[in-house]
Amino acid sequence: MKTIEQIAAELQGYDPKALKAADVNEFLARLVTPVVETEACSVFDALGRVLAEDVVSPISVPPHDNSAMDGFAFDGSQLQAGQPLALRCLGTAFAGQAWSGQANAGDCVKIMTGAIMPTGTDTVVPVEFVKFEGDMVTVPADVVRRGDNRRLLGEDLMAGRPALTQGQSLGPAALGLIASLGLPTVPVFRRLKVAYFSTGDEILSLGEAPREGAVYDSNRYTVFGLLSRMGIEVVDMGVIRDEPAALEAAFRRAASEADAIITSGGVSMGEADHTKAMMKQLGDVAFWRIAMRPGRPMAVGRIVQDGQSSVLFGLPGNPVAVMVTFLAFVRPALQRMMGAQVTEPILLKAHSAEALRKKPGRTEYQRGVVTREADGTLRVRTTGNQGSGVLRSMVEGNGLIVLHHDQGHVAVGDPVDVMMFDGVI
Ligand code: AMP
Ligand code: MG
Repeated sequence: MKTIEQIAAELQGYDPKALKAADVNEFLARLVTPVVETEACSVFDALGRVLAEDVVSPISVPPHDNSAMDGFAFDGSQLQAGQPLALRCLGTAFAGQAWSGQANAGDCVKIMTGAIMPTGTDTVVPVEFVKFEGDMVTVPADVVRRGDNRRLLGEDLMAGRPALTQGQSLGPAALGLIASLGLPTVPVFRRLKVAYFSTGDEILSLGEAPREGAVYDSNRYTVFGLLSRMGIEVVDMGVIRDEPAALEAAFRRAASEADAIITSGGVSMGEADHTKAMMKQLGDVAFWRIAMRPGRPMAVGRIVQDGQSSVLFGLPGNPVAVMVTFLAFVRPALQRMMGAQVTEPILLKAHSAEALRKKPGRTEYQRGVVTREADGTLRVRTTGNQGSGVLRSMVEGNGLIVLHHDQGHVAVGDPVDVMMFDGVI
């Protein structure tokens, strides 16, 4: 396991007082290690879990060539351009009940969707295209080509080939795919466990009476939601007073119980509190100023307790800064810890409805509302006040306008990148 100092030495131009957003992710990728323990998980319990091994298909899906339509199956080599084809119907093939005869030239078999293609047939003409009289079926000219409306054996999944790969997060489609292979369980990495607490003497817990200068804790709830969406097991440790003994006990308990610890507050430069001192005392921690807005201060490192090491993410106190730093840095780092493949978010391009002031030399994440114009193009406006304490902006926005490090002012109509919240927030 590398120390903070060793990781810092590996990164070119590392400056903890003016770190670029991209360098933060690079640093965290070197800091964290994926869990190794695995377990078998039933399909219904596997939603959101991360696959620990490739799933190799034990069978082919579909297991036979079968019909994609209700219609008549026949040998398509008899089709000739511009010519109708007359066929005699020999019987019916039902789904789950194969027709066991042999079709020859001039024959066809009535077939239902999903039924096995009878021997001697390779093409299905949909029932609505044909004319029939008694057992005679006429396929009009040029309504089908050879091989049409037939699903091939293994066209979805072929036996012996990987159907899903290690590190994949299992979504609804993956659950169905696993079930289609007849697998009752899949190997997944154990669930990641993350403890979190808020710090600050001015932070009230729910149920406490309001008092002058105090604010209700919102960070624990947004962090809870963000972690839960990722399928992470959470340990809620409440609000911790700005007292060395309380902070020490909280960090020690969190480190002994969880893979990672998320705190909010107490890491900005002017802080006169004990949070930073305790992080320093109990772990190997770097204190950063990131060239970004919102969310400049952040502490990262490890807290060690009883030989167990937990990754520490010391987030800023302001509610929007907490969510933005979580999305930009903590989320990808936790995905790595979960054993998941980390994919860059897909940024949309939208035309800015407003002029945006932006200084080159820092990354800005403005809360935006993306809408689709009548002509099909995307347009984005900001949610208004972009203060890092205005949590309402995260509720009203449907994405973050990402103004990149080197980018300057944006004029009305300029294209900007947007990271949509969909499925994450
Ligand atoms: P700090 O980084 O501790 O100086 O906090 C910055 C700002 O965020 C202050 O205005 C705090 O009152 C506010 N803040 C800190 N923690 C929380 C929290 N858990 N919930 C809501 N606001 C908070
Ligand atoms: Mg504070």
